[in-house]
Amino acid sequence: MRGSGVARGGGILGSLLIGLPIVAAMVAVSIPVVASQRRADEAEACQLNLVRIQNAKVRYAVDHDLAAGSTVTLEELIKACPKQLPTMPECPGGGKYAINTIGTTATCSLEGQGHRIIKRLPVAGLASDNE
Ligand SMILES: [Zn+2]
Repeated sequence: MRGSGVARGGGILGSLLIGLPIVAAMVAVSIPVVASQRRADEAEACQLNLVRIQNAKVRYAVDHDLAAGSTVTLEELIKACPKQLPTMPECPGGGKYAINTIGTTATCSLEGQGHRIIKRLPVAGLASDNE
């Protein structure tokens, strides 16, 4: 019995010695993947916010007969267009939104990290110019 106990203890120790580096390697590999997925999710949520801001800008411009180049604030958009923009949008990545003028696209300060409106070709599914 004693010998088998030592052998079992040695087996557990051996398993730990082999298993721990494998687990550590799996964690090391998965952390960047999780972080990358989180950044992609943030960029996608930010794109949705930018589209909502853009839709509100178009609605506001039509309702107020504004020409391209006219200015509008985010507060004015929220007040005038609760359907398109019910709340103050916040970039999930911590970026800041620039409403920009009527006729131009709203932008996020994290634009370089994919936080931008991706323009699609008229025929959906063929391609997109996200570069
Ligand atoms: Zn953003």
